Amino acid sequence: MLTINSLSKSYNKGKNFALEDVTFNLKAGQVCAIVGESGSGKTTLVRLIAGLERPDHGSIVMGDKVIASLDKFVQPEKRKIGLVFQEYALFPHLTILENVLYGISKIKHKRKRAQDMLDLVGLSDLGDRYPHQLSGGQQQRVALARALAPEPSLLILDEPFSNLDTMLRTQLRNEVFDIIKKTEVTVLFVTHDTQDALSVADEILILQNGKVIQKDVAANLYVNPNTLYVASLFGSTVHINKNLQHAFRCPLKETCCYAIRNEKIKVSPSSSDTDCEYITTAQVIKKIQLGESIQLLLKLDSGEQLTVMTQDKNIADTIFIGFNSTDILEFENE
Ligand code: ADP
Ligand code: MG
Repeated sequence: MLTINSLSKSYNKGKNFALEDVTFNLKAGQVCAIVGESGSGKTTLVRLIAGLERPDHGSIVMGDKVIASLDKFVQPEKRKIGLVFQEYALFPHLTILENVLYGISKIKHKRKRAQDMLDLVGLSDLGDRYPHQLSGGQQQRVALARALAPEPSLLILDEPFSNLDTMLRTQLRNEVFDIIKKTEVTVLFVTHDTQDALSVADEILILQNGKVIQKDVAANLYVNPNTLYVASLFGSTVHINKNLQHAFRCPLKETCCYAIRNEKIKVSPSSSDTDCEYITTAQVIKKIQLGESIQLLLKLDSGEQLTVMTQDKNIADTIFIGFNSTDILEFENE
């Protein structure tokens, strides 16, 4: 449905690239989350797709039509893409219904369509109000109604919940995606929150420094992360550096990078209790009760600190920790 080929964008004539050689595709009806730290190029990518920026290299194909390349550029309003941004961007002097009507000049029966969209987002009775008379969550649902009203092929959400507090965020996110699922529109959902992505996306694309690090379904990102960074995004992870290899007496190849999930590190009171291949002793510095489990902050003889989880309530000051080779994650690059 959407194909991105070698897309690059620089804001300073090629000195550095906000987006570099990005390639991926999106199937119709899919929800794809774009995850990355602030500054990783997420907004640049979606602005290029929406036609708010022009690429320096590469092309964007929607359906069978090139919408952006070096010699082709389809205007944003001709792309059939709906946008919802972090700031609700509603027109303050227009009513809610007028805001939704704004984008749909070309559809017949547009008043009915706008009202249907307000029904869809659960704001049927608020069409006559002005944006300032609505809560943040309601305004964002109006923004969604406005984006969906012209029947876009692709809906882009760029950190739409970042302005809202945590409780409301989760609730609104679930509501919004319940609404979106009903429309069967294809979605690109930009977020810096891994939990958001895991909750709603069919696939997740990881951006780092303007490059695609990995695109996969959530389960594969957890089991087969490409890099230590991806591994850390989807669960607490310890880098098995030279010091740790020494401490656990597990010599590994110099050319690769290794890690272990904190949850795979086993804790026991004596070395004879563990059935792990690699073991070391550790001093318990701190115990934190987290629900049923206890999180231990540990210090190794080498000075390294790490945390592990245990169910054992009677933990001594010195313990043994270990892991097995089958649980080691291996990466080509750090
Ligand atoms: P994200 O949305 O992941 O936070 P952005 O796409 O906004 O990342 O930014 C990627 C990089 O491009 C950052 O280094 C940012 O400073 C830079 N950048 C973004 N927009 C502009 C712009 N209009 N002019 C110059 N630099 C920009
Ligand atoms: Mg952004």
